[in-house]
Amino acid sequence: MDEEFKCVRCGNCCRWSGCVKVTASEIDAVAVFFGVSPQEFIGRHTRLMPDRQGLSLLERTDGACEFLIDGPPAACAIEPVKPAQCKDFPYRWNFPGWRDECMAGHGRKKNAG
Ligand code: SF4
Ligand code: SF4
Repeated sequence: MDEEFKCVRCGNCCRWSGCVKVTASEIDAVAVFFGVSPQEFIGRHTRLMPDRQGLSLLERTDGACEFLIDGPPAACAIEPVKPAQCKDFPYRWNFPGWRDECMAGHGRKKNAG
């Protein structure tokens, strides 16, 4: 991890319009977190990824992840059980142009919160 990296909870990574991939074990964990069955969680909160190789969390109408709690500071409604893709951002997983979005990556975008 970059020693200079410090998340400032701007939430821009959660507003990125791509997929938030969730594995079967991650779905199980989030379902337990909400007290619902995995099938119920899948039906209400996921969609098939474009490559049809897995499931993604749903987005809000503005394209942000539906579990984003707008700030500032932004927060995640499933923080204790958020998917690895979220935990790994930005160094073990990221998307093209992430440094422009991420305030901690010297982002150029204004805090949208
Ligand atoms: S699950 Fe949480 S951390 Fe991951 S994109 Fe959604 S709001 Fe952000
Ligand atoms: S974009 Fe960067 S600074 Fe903003 S919430 Fe995500 S990791 Fe933190």
